[in-house]
Amino acid sequence: MAAEVSLLDMLDARERRVHHQQELLKRYHKPLICFTMNIAGPIKDSPLIRRGFARGQQLLRQQFFRAKLSPLHTDAHCEAFYVLDADPMAIKKFTTDIEDATPLGRLFDMDVLRPDGTKVDREELSLSGRRCLICGGPAKVCSSRRIHTVAELQAKTTEILNQIITHLIEIQCARGNLHLFLYTKVKSSKFFGDLGFYEIARVEDTLVFMENRRDGFSSYLRNLEKTKTEGKSAALVMNANPFTLGHQYLVEKAAAACDTLHLFVVSEDASLVPFAVRKKLVAEGVKHLPNVVLHDSGPYIISNATFPSYFLKDEAAVIDGHARLDLAVFTKIAKALNITARYVGEEPTSQVTGLYNQIMCQQLPKAGIDCIVVPRKEADGKAISASTVRQCLQTGDWDTLETLLPQTSLAYFRSPEAAPVLERIRKAGNVVHY
Ligand SMILES: [Zn+2]
Repeated sequence: MAAEVSLLDMLDARERRVHHQQELLKRYHKPLICFTMNIAGPIKDSPLIRRGFARGQQLLRQQFFRAKLSPLHTDAHCEAFYVLDADPMAIKKFTTDIEDATPLGRLFDMDVLRPDGTKVDREELSLSGRRCLICGGPAKVCSSRRIHTVAELQAKTTEILNQIITHLIEIQCARGNLHLFLYTKVKSSKFFGDLGFYEIARVEDTLVFMENRRDGFSSYLRNLEKTKTEGKSAALVMNANPFTLGHQYLVEKAAAACDTLHLFVVSEDASLVPFAVRKKLVAEGVKHLPNVVLHDSGPYIISNATFPSYFLKDEAAVIDGHARLDLAVFTKIAKALNITARYVGEEPTSQVTGLYNQIMCQQLPKAGIDCIVVPRKEADGKAISASTVRQCLQTGDWDTLETLLPQTSLAYFRSPEAAPVLERIRKAGNVVHY
């Protein structure tokens, strides 16, 4: 969400900045770079502006590297400070190079302070003053005479920042990532539409999920449709990290209550157990159930691990936004497969998943889909959870594992094939939340 900054906030920010500068100069007695973004209008913070700022920091780090300098101190939030053990004039030379090299540089303010707190001036390097964003004339003249309106300046700023997005898309394509996804605020979706992105699903008034393939999601749905059957169809979505007796119990319960159970394994590789292994263990663990159809979730069902948080104001809003988006995607999948029920495992321990399930049970019936919560299967009086399994795999507690895993998963983890995965789990530290 773009933040509006009042004049008072700005004065406060400026005062804080000066105070911080003085502190750093006093502590190090060395030259200091103070880098801020020069953004017209009341909105000083947005994902796009942060992108531009991140690019500026990257350009500075490249200059440090070339000059064989490593900052004695770095801190960066909405502004970045670098203390360097080098000649202030030499530092000013490369910061002005960055400011002048590209249109984006015109949005950068990179002040260089001497240890005594005085600013190094462009004139000392015989450089002309900053240029105006819009007309290219002296920036001081344009800003003091208010020659351009704030609206004009904002439009130009957005145009310059947009070039970064185009650049980022090009970089991803050069890396071989041809299928790109993004989340954006509803009002920015038109802009991404112009850049060749298409809507997958949206959460009204909140966000839009987009991809750069016109036919991406629709062809995924058409492929799914080939497995559509008559009779009652239900769905289950699981990460199965890894597949436990609890998962198996959930699948058996759901499969017994419908004619066809579409079982989606989250394909995104954000878990300790890689997707290929998770899928294999699920496939082996449900082989005895003839009415289960296994699917990859594809890139469209995403975990909260990769759902971005910068849009939304707090953690509850992030969980809510993610759940609603996921359900918007799922509703389209359900339509393609004639799914009228979704099964979920009860979540007594994880707060995030618990809240997620709660939102699901509110939203799905609105789309004509029943949401059925299945109580957890227990072992030794405790609900079986994949995180307990990961802990046991970490400590090598095979006695407990025998009570938590089906034979198929056990056989895999005892095989030499599992060595790299076990190694990864052992090294992972806290395995509860992954
Ligand atoms: Zn101008």
